[in-house]
Amino acid sequence: MAVSNSDRPSRPPQKKFFHRKKFCRFCTDSNIQIDYKNPMILSNFVTERGKIMPRRITGNCAKHQRELTVAIKRARTIAIMPFVAAEGR
Ligand SMILES: [Zn+2]
Repeated sequence: MAVSNSDRPSRPPQKKFFHRKKFCRFCTDSNIQIDYKNPMILSNFVTERGKIMPRRITGNCAKHQRELTVAIKRARTIAIMPFVAAEGR
């Protein structure tokens, strides 16, 4: 059975992902430190659902993206765990 592709619908041209300044934020601004105790910074790199944004969106370099991932995971861990020092008595 011969399949004809001649009437295949032509796709619209793919829009390019909007071009944001593609440079690592942590390399650009040395004042920003990746710190798992600083959720203000970490929250810039997670989605509303708390997922870590991929590097192609954040534009971070591999080194900093990696540090960031570790920091976010660490921050999650301490947020989930009970604060031991606040042990009531
Ligand atoms: Zn960097």
